[in-house]
Amino acid sequence: MSFWKTKKLSEMTAEEWESLCDNCGKCCLHKLEDEETGKRVFTSIACKLINLKTCRCTRYTGRTRLVADCLDLKQSEFTRYDWLPATCAYRLLNDGKELPAWHPLLSGSTASVKKACVSISSYAIKESPGINPGDHIIEWLE
Ligand code: SF4
Ligand code: SF4
Repeated sequence: MSFWKTKKLSEMTAEEWESLCDNCGKCCLHKLEDEETGKRVFTSIACKLINLKTCRCTRYTGRTRLVADCLDLKQSEFTRYDWLPATCAYRLLNDGKELPAWHPLLSGSTASVKKACVSISSYAIKESPGINPGDHIIEWLE
């Protein structure tokens, strides 16, 4: 039986945990939050440390030290995963849902993430001075 069907997130080994990430890159996009309602929206502006071809962090080990608001999900409260995109495996499993067919653990290849248009690779831009996040708000159909 697949480990993600039998184990809770908190019971997974480090290797199992990492394999759940599909490297979509969505969590590395800047977000805007409405101060009054608390509603969050994603933008297409990505963290300066992401490689937009692979959608992987270029400084994964030191990421939370190098980027102030970068979170180590494994160290975060599972009850606070609601900010993650709806396609994120950690959020899906935490909510008791199945992994989608395009997830690399089921498809056997990371190419399926791009094919399913889940990767940010084709549209994200790197953060840089002068970019107004409000001009780059996005919404996913999911
Ligand atoms: S949103 Fe989830 S699956 Fe996608 S890169 Fe971030 S942690 Fe990985
Ligand atoms: S530091 Fe790395 S993991 Fe964190 S948001 Fe930036 S690219 Fe993503």
